[in-house]
Amino acid sequence: MDLNVENGKIEQPLKPMIRVGTPIFSKNGKKAGILLLNYFAENLLFAFSEHTHNSSTKPWLLNNEGYWLKGESAEIEWGFMYKNTLTSMSRLYPESWLKIMASKEGQFLDNIGLWTFTTIYPLVEDQKPSTGTHEIFSPGHSNLESQDYFWKAVLLIPRNLYQSVYQPTKTLITFVTLTLLCILYFGCWLLARAWVSEKHIEEKLIQLNKNLEVTVDERTEQLLLAKKQAEELAQTDELTGMNNRRSFFSQGHIISEQAIRYRLQFTVMMLDIDWFKKVNDNYGHLIGDEALKDVARVIMAGIRTPDISGRIGGEEFAIILPQTQPEKTIEIAERLRRTVKSIAIPVADNKNISLTISIGIGQYSDQNQSLHEVLSLADKALYQAKEQGRNRVVLFEE
Ligand code: GH3
Ligand code: MG
Ligand code: MG
Repeated sequence: MDLNVENGKIEQPLKPMIRVGTPIFSKNGKKAGILLLNYFAENLLFAFSEHTHNSSTKPWLLNNEGYWLKGESAEIEWGFMYKNTLTSMSRLYPESWLKIMASKEGQFLDNIGLWTFTTIYPLVEDQKPSTGTHEIFSPGHSNLESQDYFWKAVLLIPRNLYQSVYQPTKTLITFVTLTLLCILYFGCWLLARAWVSEKHIEEKLIQLNKNLEVTVDERTEQLLLAKKQAEELAQTDELTGMNNRRSFFSQGHIISEQAIRYRLQFTVMMLDIDWFKKVNDNYGHLIGDEALKDVARVIMAGIRTPDISGRIGGEEFAIILPQTQPEKTIEIAERLRRTVKSIAIPVADNKNISLTISIGIGQYSDQNQSLHEVLSLADKALYQAKEQGRNRVVLFEE
């Protein structure tokens, strides 16, 4: 780039030129002259300024020595032409300039302001620059490669301006960040609270469920117990605690069914207290009841495990003895009869009375297989025992 020179005097660089020159040779190779082409670079500088027209700060264009080609004002421009080294960026902002020179492009902040810069290479490859002279016929001061010739486009936002823009933004960013953090914290808190209360409710529900299960289990147990008790009550004679008539027949029926299926032997005893009516009449019903209980106790204690006994009438008892021969049944019956007879039943005036029982025995046979049939044989035998004078055991025989 060159200055306009008039009458050998340096003027203001109102007409900056880019001068392109090339030597011309004659046919025989002798240098005939130089062809020079002047480009009015003001257009370029104007375009450079225009391009960043809207910026609040003006961009600078500097040559590679730090002299302004386009600066804040015309006074500081073209310092290298005036040999005024003071008007160069490398002198005014030496540290910033070093940083700008260190990279092709970039941005940095120092105590002067925010610097943004890039490097411009105006020459195409293989072109040689010749710079820094205003003398028309003098040779170029330097002979650089195209890559070594460059300008720097620099934009400075002074620190005070930068901060006045940046500070509110910074405050705004801080405020927004804090607000977002608060919202986030509040959200987390709400979530945590919801989670904790959900956990709490869940625990309560689990506890409630456990309590309910325990209650249900307890109730079920109570119900089962009540059911068992009711069943036992339904099967038990209230006075004596032995099987009642219904229970005796249902259990006895099973034994007789098995006997029929497997052709097993069984016998049945019918027991009746002798002259029991007199006991009631002479000593009262309560004594009669005690006597009934005593006889029941003797029967229950005197039979074997598989035998089934029961109170089937007022003072009548029955026993079914599975797989038992008549002889054995007579033996057991005799023992029961003797035991009952030996019981001393206390009555009024410190007196005791004793009872006797009559026993009839029926046995299973091909003709009489069912419980009812065998029982009816035993009943007939009992009748015979009564007829024969009571306090005895009679086996029914055809
Ligand atoms: P037998 O030797 O002929 O059997 O004479 P018995 O007096 O024992 O015969 P009867 O059938 O005439 O009398 C039975 C009595 O049993 C009549 C009734 O008062 C009594 N009795 C029946 N059930 C009960 C009871 O639960 N408690 C009491 N105390 N007595 C009862
Ligand atoms: Mg009777
Ligand atoms: Mg009787």
